[in-house]
Amino acid sequence: MNKIEVGVLGATGMVGQEFVSFLQNHPWFEMKWAGASDRSAGKKYSDATSWRLDGVMPTGVRNLTVEESKPGNAPKLLFSAMDASVATDIERAFASAGHIVVSNSRNHRMEPDVPLLVPEANPDHLKLIPVQQRNRGWKGQIVTNPNCSTAVLALALAPLKRFGIARVIVTTMQAVSGAGYPGVPSLDIIGNVIPFIGGEEEKMQQETQKILGDYRGDRIEPLAARVSAHCNRVPVIDGHTETVSIELSSKPSREEILDALSSFTALPQERKLPSAPPHPVICMEQPDRPQPRRDVERENGMSTFVGRLRTCPALDWKFVAMGHNTVRGAAGAAVLNAELMYSEGFLD
Ligand code: NAP
Repeated sequence: MNKIEVGVLGATGMVGQEFVSFLQNHPWFEMKWAGASDRSAGKKYSDATSWRLDGVMPTGVRNLTVEESKPGNAPKLLFSAMDASVATDIERAFASAGHIVVSNSRNHRMEPDVPLLVPEANPDHLKLIPVQQRNRGWKGQIVTNPNCSTAVLALALAPLKRFGIARVIVTTMQAVSGAGYPGVPSLDIIGNVIPFIGGEEEKMQQETQKILGDYRGDRIEPLAARVSAHCNRVPVIDGHTETVSIELSSKPSREEILDALSSFTALPQERKLPSAPPHPVICMEQPDRPQPRRDVERENGMSTFVGRLRTCPALDWKFVAMGHNTVRGAAGAAVLNAELMYSEGFLD
């Protein structure tokens, strides 16, 4: 197939670089356009960007001229990794001008007519797109992916929805890469745990309910479960680890839960979307796994690893989940969203 030209808004930033890296050699998409602030516009990508990822900047983007983040000559499909302080208006301007904006920024996630998409959990939430276009008079559209800690949790919970999720208590141990660059000062985080990440607990609670909610009559009915999150920053580079306690209405056995988790596949796997992991949830038998250092790079960072499923004296069951915060929690999630949208005909 001829590759689809794509652009990245916020291409010079940390998540923007993750997009550049993730899109390198993508079988369907080719990055042809980079947008950033006026500070970078007009410069070559290699001059405007301090490359912070492992390895060298991909050669295909080095000579791209960074553009102003205004509709004009950008490709129809744009990934967005823009600073949240500016993303609202800029993403809307592109959607209004007919672009398909697949955004990683938090700005539009909780808007009622914007899909907050996890392709394995809620592909039918794409039905919001015509609603969004009707409400706003846009030719284009905005689709979002969840916050990084929510992405890990939502994948672990999606296979359990059939048992009736009644209550969830989750405690996170979040990697420093989730705070971007330069992120948390080294003197604050080395040998330490910071029991506060601004806005994160609210995001986890609300986004989980929206993702696992049901599309009904042009809106999303949030999951009726009570979700309580405690969010902590820990001195880990990549990989958010989460301990989860859960109450399930239909009282499944341990075997039924394990089978639901480990046999879970959905539309992205059926359609063999290029970034879809064969197994979105991987159950680990070892009593001391998953661990971020040992497991985070497996499955190209696109699966959630679950271990230590055992009974919980307070709710019904408890387990550990871990996933790659800058891949499944950021760029990889948005690219998989765009792949699903392509396979559903939204990019025609
Ligand atoms: P970042 O490194 O600060 O990058 C911000 C990007 O936005 C840069 O490309 C910057 O361009 C651009 N930008 C800033 N002001 C702009 C303006 N006025 N007009 C147009 N572009 C502008 O931030 P980040 O860590 O990559 O985060 C980007 C977004 O992803 C945020 O919304 C964040 O909440 C979200 N997110 C981050 C992570 C993570 O792991 N870091 C995870 C999930 C979600 P210049 O280089 O020209 O300034």
